[in-house]
Amino acid sequence: MKLDFEKGNGLVPVIIQDDRTQHVLMLGYMNEEALKLTQKDGRVHFFSRTKNRIWLKGETSENYLYVMSIKEDCDSDALLIQAKPAGNVCHTGSFSCFEEKNSKGFLYELEETISERIDQKVEKSYTYDLYQRGINKMAQKVGEEAVELVIEAKDDNAKLFKDEAADLLYHFLILLKAKSFSLSEIEEVLMERSRK
Ligand code: AMP
Ligand code: ZN
Ligand code: ZN
Ligand code: ZN
Repeated sequence: MKLDFEKGNGLVPVIIQDDRTQHVLMLGYMNEEALKLTQKDGRVHFFSRTKNRIWLKGETSENYLYVMSIKEDCDSDALLIQAKPAGNVCHTGSFSCFEEKNSKGFLYELEETISERIDQKVEKSYTYDLYQRGINKMAQKVGEEAVELVIEAKDDNAKLFKDEAADLLYHFLILLKAKSFSLSEIEEVLMERSRK
């Protein structure tokens, strides 16, 4: 089937999806030339309705979209492109045009809060206080909370189990920060494993 550019006056809408996470990243439009360039170059080119010209996504930000697959929809008037983004896709700095910066979840917000408490040396903050007591103490707390969780696992008090699970995650995030690792790096390790 041939792609129908006529219906949209020479343009087809193109949904960009993250090849790895399946997140919808953005929507753009292509004319025939943009599609040809995209297929030839391997990076997504749109036709910008604002600029009224071909637009290589990433031309200034270098946040290119590397094409992994191109699919037509059922009646050939729209495209779905699975791509690997080289960086944040949205010009607002979000990884996707449809997500807020912190939409990756509350754990990421908590990670940021912990980071701020420590970087800004907030006195009277439990987080900063624990941080100041050194790496061994932070690591030990993770061990203690893990043991408390193990103990609750043997019982069936839901409230206590959830509380200890939360304590463990919180202290785990502090330890990551102290070791200068980010939650997304750990997430990346898990995702890499699941790809195998
Ligand atoms: P870039 O293609 O990433 O180098 O961005 C160049 C310009 O295109 C930006 O300054 C924005 O005006 C615009 N732009 C970039 N990304 C998007 C997007 N996801 N949606 C709409 N406009 C964008
Ligand atoms: Zn359609
Ligand atoms: Zn955007
Ligand atoms: Zn606890």
